[in-house]
Amino acid sequence: MASETLDTTVCVVGGGPAGAMLGLLLARSGVDVVVLEKHADFHRDFRGDTVHPATLQILDEVGLVEKFHELPHQKVSTIGVVQDGKRINIADFSKLKVPYPYMAFVPQWDFLDLITAEAAARYPSFRLLMCSEALGVIRENGRVAGVRVRREEGELEVRSTLVVAADGRHSAIREDIGAKPRLIGASLDVIFFRISRRESDPDEGICVRIGNGKIFGATDRRTYWQMSYETGKGGLEDIRRRGLAAFRADLAALVPFLADRVHEVASMDDLSLLEARIDRLEQWHAPGLLFIGDAAHAMSPVAGFGVNLAVQDAVATSNALTGALLHSQGTGAAFDDTLLAKVRRRRRLTTALSQGLQRGTQKFGIDSALKGSGQPPAPKIFERFGPAQKLMSRVIGLGFRQEHVRTPEADRQRPPSPPWSAFTPQAKPDEEHQS
Ligand SMILES: Cc1cc2nc3c(=O)[nH]c(=O)nc-3n(C[C@H](O)[C@H](O)[C@H](O)COP(=O)(O)OP(=O)(O)OC[C@H]3O[C@@H](n4cnc5c(N)ncnc54)[C@H](O)[C@@H]3O)c2cc1C
Repeated sequence: MASETLDTTVCVVGGGPAGAMLGLLLARSGVDVVVLEKHADFHRDFRGDTVHPATLQILDEVGLVEKFHELPHQKVSTIGVVQDGKRINIADFSKLKVPYPYMAFVPQWDFLDLITAEAAARYPSFRLLMCSEALGVIRENGRVAGVRVRREEGELEVRSTLVVAADGRHSAIREDIGAKPRLIGASLDVIFFRISRRESDPDEGICVRIGNGKIFGATDRRTYWQMSYETGKGGLEDIRRRGLAAFRADLAALVPFLADRVHEVASMDDLSLLEARIDRLEQWHAPGLLFIGDAAHAMSPVAGFGVNLAVQDAVATSNALTGALLHSQGTGAAFDDTLLAKVRRRRRLTTALSQGLQRGTQKFGIDSALKGSGQPPAPKIFERFGPAQKLMSRVIGLGFRQEHVRTPEADRQRPPSPPWSAFTPQAKPDEEHQS
């Protein structure tokens, strides 16, 4: 039995790019929203730090783009592959006719801190509960009516008109209701590590290097290179078996300008393994419940699609549902659950196409590169066929379907509240934002 209960209109589970952006958008229009995040902060590495031209435009539409550009960031115009020692650009965003023709690299925790702090400061109906882990849904009268939450202080029930599960690729809500996503293709092991950067290093942006049956990715973070090593299953055991010296030699061979620093990979502890998978739910909603972002469709790191797609899901959700949520909040009328299908209808094709592109890149690029010394044919297409690069710039930069914020900003009736720090469920609504 939960010791505390909290009522809201929308309970968003997960404070990643999808959940944080949805929380901001709903609160911006006056919808009462609680975002639950199980961690104490957003400080986790290797979560995808790419903010695409389409996401920059969305930040502009909600009045945050200037503040975003005040964060330490790096603008990257091209994504390339080095094959046979020659760089081939796969995407060149500078050719897009958009307000922000580049990809901005910002640590994801800075991006999420900005969105949630601004939402809390500007919109009184936004509440973010950190250290709050959703355990499962509350069911009532055949529909989802809220979420059971574990907090340090004890268990909490968040009761809501709608629950949006944006809790990522290992979604607890998905697990709780027994929804099983379909795996699309084989999963991939990605091993991350860092190597220091020197002034004399090439100005590469993001670059993937392919050769000798190996793939290394290098992302320029100004003071260091964020390196990734893509392998099939069991990649870490393989490195352990062959020894770190062999791994360092592979790295030096493929990324020669790092050869003098490969010793910075000093032990296996310097390598972090993440499993990348692509999967998708067939059914994105149930009465009172909607899945968005990776919880609905897990993305792999290929082409850095996931964050952009998650943010666009949030925009499509707020565009489709804000009016009905405000009506329900204002009048007490039942929420029309059939509207949830609109979100899936709008986002399903673009998701399937994005995942298809990731799957195709994995199959025809990554898998064939890993199979042996042969070079995958895919990057050469971009060299020989000009429109391919143009198309890829558009697809990676803007997505297959670009979303724009269509919801209005509500009058800010109450004075701005400080960024969320210490929510107590017992507090009365007017007191909550003053603590
Ligand atoms: C190895 C790897 C590298 C990647 N690199 C990139 C990249 O460079 N660029 C890119 O665009 N995409 C990248 N992606 C994909 C990208 O990370 C995801 O697509 C994107 O983060 C999805 O956003 P989301 O908000 O849906 O989910 P997430 O980012 O996973 O956020 C979910 C949030 O929910 C919280 N949460 C989880 N369970 C609960 C719970 N029970 N209760 C409360 N909170 C909970 C989590 O702590 C997290 O904060 C990468 C993926 C992988 C696996």
